[in-house]
Amino acid sequence: MAQPSYWVETLGCPKNQVDSDKLVGTLEADGMTRAGSADEADLVVVNTCAFIESARQESVETVLALADAKRDGARIVVTGCMAERYGDELADALPEADLVAGFGVPVTLGRKPDVPALDLLNLPRPKSSAPWAYVKIAEGCDRSCGFCAIPSFRGKQRSRSLDAILGEVDALEAQEIVLVAQDLASYGRDLGHAGAIVDLVEQVAARVARTRLLYLYPSDLSDALIDAVVATGVPYFDLSLQHVSKPLLRRMRRWGDGGRFLARIDAIRQRCPDAAFRSNFIVGYPGETEADHDQLLAFVEAAQLDWCGFFSYSKEGGTYAADLDGEVSAHLMAERLVELSMLQDAITARRRQALLGETVEVLVDAPGVGRTHREAPEIDGIVHVPDTLPVGQFAKVVVTGATGPDLEAESA
Ligand code: SF4
Repeated sequence: MAQPSYWVETLGCPKNQVDSDKLVGTLEADGMTRAGSADEADLVVVNTCAFIESARQESVETVLALADAKRDGARIVVTGCMAERYGDELADALPEADLVAGFGVPVTLGRKPDVPALDLLNLPRPKSSAPWAYVKIAEGCDRSCGFCAIPSFRGKQRSRSLDAILGEVDALEAQEIVLVAQDLASYGRDLGHAGAIVDLVEQVAARVARTRLLYLYPSDLSDALIDAVVATGVPYFDLSLQHVSKPLLRRMRRWGDGGRFLARIDAIRQRCPDAAFRSNFIVGYPGETEADHDQLLAFVEAAQLDWCGFFSYSKEGGTYAADLDGEVSAHLMAERLVELSMLQDAITARRRQALLGETVEVLVDAPGVGRTHREAPEIDGIVHVPDTLPVGQFAKVVVTGATGPDLEAESA
């Protein structure tokens, strides 16, 4: 008899991708095989995202589309952040789902799993199918940013042990490891080891060719951490800034201001002129004035970051910001978003153009697709390289063209 087959559909952020890989590990350990497509599978798992309203909507639409497409008799299981956050409510609203399974609930075929809960964070994962892989080093968050509901359903920070992380890094056999967590630089603080991220970065970098860090809260960007990142050979700084206006940042219950952020970015560039930067900003947080917006525009112009994401504020039930006054209209938010995006797109394009003629080292992710230290996988642009370059290997290439975020390159 053929082995039962599964299909896992993942929405949301890199952290969810890691959870999906681990769920795949449990399904394969149960003797299941990967189906060729969702409509051939005996079990369809949807790993949902609950970050903001649009993400939730996409998750629900995906469940409905897959429920429609699945073959007769197949089961559909909804897991991930939405399942955790809305559990029973979601199960009532989605009768199409055979099971709504919050974190740690096995995505079995039965409606009432009686198997022990999974420690998702520490489950083994299959070897990476790409030359790079995300590794989640902690779950949850101890901060209380005004706009964010994540701590309410992901809980307090729980850092993994160094051994568990290094074991996973070894098992993945990837050339590039991308470390992720809700608040990466705080790794180890809950274990009484503030600053443990530095040792972790050094140990991972000793095992793999590239170590990349995502989501650094700016107050924890210590000199020691900057040095450790630069020493990995991947001077890529993903700074979670969210805004630059001091009063607005305080209303967000966050640290810092534009002046401090610029000083930090300048200091990193002095240490490492080749450093690449990414950040994310929220547009239209309650109380954001025209002056706040102008400050953000001026910062974006001054900082000349390689990559920026701008996101409209989304009111999340149960958060501090949900009760704040000073709502910014959807129309004004959209206007501000377009203004910022246009400004940054031009900066990104200029920074990409400036690389013309340079010899850079790429990791070849797929035939014809490479990335230097400047491009995080699935997030930033790519480098189009000759498709004769072997996948999974590093190669030196010369940049010959730039189109928006992407580069063209030839073998050096
Ligand atoms: S650092 Fe702030 S935005 Fe990030 S997960 Fe924690 S509370 Fe949310």
